[in-house]
Amino acid sequence: MSKRIAILGATGSIGTSTLDVIAQHPGRFEIVALTAHSRVSELASLCQQFRPRFACVSDPSCYSEFKALMGSAAPDTEVLAGPEGLEQVASESSVDAVMAAIVGAAGLKATLAAARAGKTILLANKEALVMAGSVFMNAVHENGATLLPIDSEHNAIFQSLPERFSGTIEGLGVRRIILTASGGPFRTRALAELRNITPDQACAHPNWSMGRKISVDSATMMNKALEVIEAHWLFGATAEQISVVIHPESIVHSMVEYLDGSVISQMGNPDMRTPIAQALAYPDRIESGVASLKLPAVGTLTFEEPDLSRFPAIRLAYATLSQGNSASAVFNAANEIAVAAFLDEKLPFLAITEVIEETLTEVPLTPTTRIEDVFFADQLARSCAASIVAKGRRRERNVA
Ligand code: NAD
Ligand code: MG
Repeated sequence: MSKRIAILGATGSIGTSTLDVIAQHPGRFEIVALTAHSRVSELASLCQQFRPRFACVSDPSCYSEFKALMGSAAPDTEVLAGPEGLEQVASESSVDAVMAAIVGAAGLKATLAAARAGKTILLANKEALVMAGSVFMNAVHENGATLLPIDSEHNAIFQSLPERFSGTIEGLGVRRIILTASGGPFRTRALAELRNITPDQACAHPNWSMGRKISVDSATMMNKALEVIEAHWLFGATAEQISVVIHPESIVHSMVEYLDGSVISQMGNPDMRTPIAQALAYPDRIESGVASLKLPAVGTLTFEEPDLSRFPAIRLAYATLSQGNSASAVFNAANEIAVAAFLDEKLPFLAITEVIEETLTEVPLTPTTRIEDVFFADQLARSCAASIVAKGRRRERNVA
């Protein structure tokens, strides 16, 4: 029987890579639902190709345009709209696995709905887990959902853990998890050179082709910071059990060090179709379309310590973990506001982490036992970060 899949964020970088892998295996997977935010013509043409039972545009103002396009593109597909539509497809009884590939906090509700419905979740949307850590993991455990990491580092760790791993590394003889980081496009740039970085420069990643938000996160190293918190929740690892090493070639996707000194890693070319295929077929293995790794052509693999003075985000992630409560939700929300302002050319590159740090000191931290608490902290942090961005712009104008 084919595996029935819903893809949240089908028009994005992860979404289209997922469809690429699925298209290589006719009959093995059935696409039940595809979603996008507002790129209606792209979503309609994917529906024409994959004929899902449901399609959803999460921006409700795009509904009529999308519905009209679907009339000729895929008339048999039921058209849904808004955040409710996303939650509906994520928890549909005819869906086995949900690819959670919406970017940012916008993906949390639907991914949580999938957890509450006990689905297999292929988790790319790291922000959802960073924001809602314990609430999300409780929903996974209480409802018998299965969480398979798509983020290449976490997928590598998952593959390097023993088969009996079930949610925590405790008792598995693990000394630590070592996350690798490419260092992004500015790894070797001096601090002074980072001042006038443009959005296009920040989005030009040397090894990976990704959406714009995660590309900026890679350039500030916020991506690795979010991944430290993601690893904490996915693997039940303490902050002391998670370390980060810079590996510019992006061939070793992460490692697990055991008590006896063994270090197990997963390697491969930097192409997200590998972790996507691993999770789609798990526990089987299928072709992904990724070329064989030719180590002699790579030649040398190098590793170095991260420079926390130029890239303070990783230090902030560890501080956030030790603060607990709503700190991670605040950390994520402030980053989303700052990155959006940077992409909109309203905030200089180096100010992104400054806005996050300032928001973390200004917003009172609160317990997050229910999902409503998480959204409350998220909103508070967003308005605080937005006012810090606006204050910076007023200051800039006064100086000019
Ligand atoms: P992207 O920007 O290319 O695509 C984002 C998708 O989310 C699109 O389909 C878009 O329509 C949808 N979307 C955007 N805003 C939305 C909203 N408000 N409501 C509902 N849907 C919305 O992003 P991406 O690079 O594919 O990344 C997706 C997620 O995967 C992110 O959380 C990212 O951190 C994670 N991830 C990506 C990569 C990668 O290589 N691209 C690697 C690891 C993890
Ligand atoms: Mg990653």
